[in-house]
Amino acid sequence: MVKDTKFYDALGVSPTASDTELKKAYRKAALKYHPDKNSTPEAVEKFKEISHAYEILSDEQKRDIYDQYGEEGLSGQGGPGMNAEDIFSQFFGGGFGGGFGGGPQRPTRGKDIKHSIGCTLEDLYKGKTTKLALNKTVLCSDCEGRGGAEGKVKECPDCHGSGMKFVTRQMGPMIQRFQTVCDKCQGSGDLCDPKDRCTTCKGKKTQTERKILQVHIDPGMKDGQRIVFSGEGDQEPGITPGDVIFVVDERPDANFQRKGNDLYREYEVDLLTALAGGEIAFKHISGDWIKINITPGEVIAPGEMKIIEGQGMPIYRHGGKGNLIIKFSVAFPPNHFADEDKLKELASILPPRKQVQIPEGAEVDECDMVKYDPAKHQQRRRDAYDSDEEDGQGHPGVQCASQ
Ligand SMILES: [Zn+2]
Ligand SMILES: [Zn+2]
Repeated sequence: MVKDTKFYDALGVSPTASDTELKKAYRKAALKYHPDKNSTPEAVEKFKEISHAYEILSDEQKRDIYDQYGEEGLSGQGGPGMNAEDIFSQFFGGGFGGGFGGGPQRPTRGKDIKHSIGCTLEDLYKGKTTKLALNKTVLCSDCEGRGGAEGKVKECPDCHGSGMKFVTRQMGPMIQRFQTVCDKCQGSGDLCDPKDRCTTCKGKKTQTERKILQVHIDPGMKDGQRIVFSGEGDQEPGITPGDVIFVVDERPDANFQRKGNDLYREYEVDLLTALAGGEIAFKHISGDWIKINITPGEVIAPGEMKIIEGQGMPIYRHGGKGNLIIKFSVAFPPNHFADEDKLKELASILPPRKQVQIPEGAEVDECDMVKYDPAKHQQRRRDAYDSDEEDGQGHPGVQCASQ
């Protein structure tokens, strides 16, 4: 269930719409309400509305947040967002019947930078704050990203500042039009006299800066969950910086497995405690010890599962905890542990032996058992398969020896 359907309604699609459906819906509405086609105030408003809805829903990560927390979940997600016209030209590849703009487009948003952040179950149980240093590209502070003295950097007249231009080339009867880096400005988009160039960035407009980010891992976060620092990606003149995204990478725990908000662990109980009761104890992810009384006569069978409610993982931003599920194994005493008298005593205590049932008149083979040894016995089985499926030669020596 999504929290709010406003953006979906604006585009006239259902909250389960696929990317393709979203694109189709946006295309249709954008062409209808674009100010070039329809300049009534209502259409202008509608154009903004559908553009904003599309901007959010076409971004997987923003859509996730919107679905979960609604529009307010998106506030604080960085800058003012793109304007409707930018979204439109990005979508339609920079032209509306030649109506506006023209010229090749540079990307308007920088790349997102992803980092995985290793977390133990304990980290995800208690939460933690990690400081991470990041080398990022920022606009030069001396020239404010201009690359030279104020007023001395001019837009390149050949490419109108885009750094790219179209050239046409005749190839036989065909005229080809393709995009290339502007040779006048070498793709920088502007021109500046060498003497006016910024000495700090040498005209590159950007510098590298070391930035420390504090990443808060909240209790209950899950593997794959993302922590987004909006707009903290590399800066470049004329583009919106991308995001820095930390992805929770849950490390396996030696004793506990996590499924959703529940914790699972295996526990080996000795036979006497399993039958006659006693205490068991183990250390929890929280660091506390869990102690449980097993009532005499309760009987824990091998493979039996028990649950302790409310001792699982914290539920993310919700309060409360999942459950702790314990799967028991029973440690039996070693072979030949008891003398005959004690075994007789056992026979008097435990439920009686199960009587074997063999149909009357059936042929009975009396057999002996030996201890199973995987090294020896599995090898023999594999040989049997080999000789069946392949050339029948196998390893005759081994087969004879084991008879
Ligand atoms: Zn500079
Ligand atoms: Zn140029």
